[in-house]
Amino acid sequence: MTPLPRTPSFRLDGRCALVTGASRGIGLGCAAALAEAGAHVVCAARGLGALEDVVGSLRAAGLSAEALQLDVDNPADAAAAIDKVGPFDIFVSNAGAARHAPMVETSVADFDAVVGVNLRGAYFATQAVARGMVKAGKGGSIMTISSQMGHVGGIDRTVYSATKHAIEGMTKSAAIELGPHNIRVNTICPTFIRTPLSEPTFSNPERAAWIASKIKLRRVGKVEDIMGAVVFLAGDASAMITGTSLLIDGGWTAG
Ligand code: NAP
Repeated sequence: MTPLPRTPSFRLDGRCALVTGASRGIGLGCAAALAEAGAHVVCAARGLGALEDVVGSLRAAGLSAEALQLDVDNPADAAAAIDKVGPFDIFVSNAGAARHAPMVETSVADFDAVVGVNLRGAYFATQAVARGMVKAGKGGSIMTISSQMGHVGGIDRTVYSATKHAIEGMTKSAAIELGPHNIRVNTICPTFIRTPLSEPTFSNPERAAWIASKIKLRRVGKVEDIMGAVVFLAGDASAMITGTSLLIDGGWTAG
């Protein structure tokens, strides 16, 4: 008999995950997917009421979760909150912001708001989680919800795509540094997904037509399209994957 190799488990039982921006949209999908796979999920965002509602729904479904109020735009406070609840085995850095405008009209305030959450906030939240992972010595998986705009440009998106390209660079360098600790660092890069963040783009007919013309699979993304990728990158099935990105773009970047 030929001894058969065994597919590594996609289960996450016994692991503790942190998801920022877990109260709605893509982050909610990530939190639900990780909890369904067996992880205890710490759901973080600024608004505590919405988080408690999400945690109530997860617990009602028999899953394990708790709420953590934090603002990634305040790195010191966010790090203190992360230290208090960690260490974590899995981190999904998902909290994000967008202030789309033509490049020549971008204000300093909008630039700072988007960079503050998408880059500075993601960077220092990741730093806080990684410090805890290194100290715990058990390895881990860090994922940032970047974007297809971390690989291509887009209309009215100079600041947004600048932050997402920066996240791709951060991910590669962090993977080099954290690899010896068996901490993997990757990005997930969605195309347009219908959420409160993307609603203004979808409600502009010109932009909606642009989106429809670019996605080869001829439909926009759903939160559910991200959920399997998060479970895959969180667990043992992706044990040799680090420093890269998983595009979930319906073929947008294929050409
Ligand atoms: P969303 O619906 O606006 O949800 C954003 C989540 O982040 C909320 O839970 C929000 O809760 C939280 N959040 C915002 N600012 C925060 C802060 N300073 N500190 C902590 N939490 C904060 O957004 P989404 O569309 O799901 O997007 C999630 C991520 O996916 C973002 O990084 C985005 O760039 C990326 N992405 C989205 C799309 C898309 O088409 N939707 C496509 C590609 C990539 P509070 O307001 O209560 O804090």
